[in-house]
Amino acid sequence: MYDLIIIGGGPAGLTAATYALNKRLDTLLLSEDLGGKTAYGFDMKGYEGHEVIRGGELVEKFKRQLEYLQFAHQTDRVTKVVAEGKGFAVLTQGNKRYEAKAVIVATGALPKRLDVPGEKQLIGKGLSYSAISHAQLFIEREPAIVGSNKRALEAAAEMALIAKQVHLILPEAGESDSPLGKKLRANAKVKVYEAALQEVRGDQAVGSIVVGGKEIEVDGLFIEVGLNPGSKAVADLGITDASGRIVVNSKCATSCPGVFAAGDVTDVFIEQVLVAIGEGAKAALSAYEYLLNQ
Ligand SMILES: Cc1cc2nc3c(=O)[nH]c(=O)nc-3n(C[C@H](O)[C@H](O)[C@H](O)COP(=O)(O)OP(=O)(O)OC[C@H]3O[C@@H](n4cnc5c(N)ncnc54)[C@H](O)[C@@H]3O)c2cc1C
Repeated sequence: MYDLIIIGGGPAGLTAATYALNKRLDTLLLSEDLGGKTAYGFDMKGYEGHEVIRGGELVEKFKRQLEYLQFAHQTDRVTKVVAEGKGFAVLTQGNKRYEAKAVIVATGALPKRLDVPGEKQLIGKGLSYSAISHAQLFIEREPAIVGSNKRALEAAAEMALIAKQVHLILPEAGESDSPLGKKLRANAKVKVYEAALQEVRGDQAVGSIVVGGKEIEVDGLFIEVGLNPGSKAVADLGITDASGRIVVNSKCATSCPGVFAAGDVTDVFIEQVLVAIGEGAKAALSAYEYLLNQ
């Protein structure tokens, strides 16, 4: 039986693994890949880039440290986590069964796609699913945002402060009648379209979109229709909220003793690499404290 199984190899899981190994815990990392969503790049028309702290570079450092520590890692998809006696059984798609005294879930959340023509080809080329990460690049530009939920409206509000013009595509009523929705409708910088996005066009990067049969020139597109948290494997543990996010306290502990969670899969959900890294560290130290007291 392992001391700790970490599920997910994104920034949260990799950081948790580094901390757990430094504490000499007998640790296994189960993940479908190493790096998670840090592999998502972003470029757009006329973007020259600038010096920033890149989460992906930090994650590379954690990966190198883990390689050096020769940690146990299996590439597999976890399908179920079951509470058993004083620990947990972790079952995988590859028909493996592992046991541990504690578990950290760091499986992230995947953005929902619309699957419209042009979307797949232009991902990362002016098309993003994360306004919180890229909104700041649209000073005096013309981005479009698709989505009728709170997340999309907040993205439009943020961009309206800096952009020349914001095109807000509302595929359904959603929360568009909320006070924020009303404020956006009254903002001269925000053009609202009550229609579905039909197509994204562009060669090297997003150049235009088609909405209600009309082509609109834009500098970039944010699809903000929601995210699917990767919490299916722990659904039976009763630690998720109505949207499927894992509810954690300020120490990344869940309501199930011995189960911790970190990063985008939690209800903290600030969707930034540096936040996930911090939570991964916290979850590992909390798991260590839990194990010391067993
Ligand atoms: C388009 C886009 C651009 C972004 N750009 C930036 C940016 O510029 N800067 C920034 O700070 N943040 C950015 N983010 C946010 C950032 O990528 C995330 O906040 C961060 O990656 C979350 O880390 P995580 O470890 O929680 O999850 P993830 O990075 O999603 O990693 C999850 C890991 O879990 C694994 N996994 C999932 N389910 C299972 C399972 N059942 N079994 C085994 N393994 C599983 C996955 O394979 C993956 O390794 C962006 C996000 C998106 C969507």
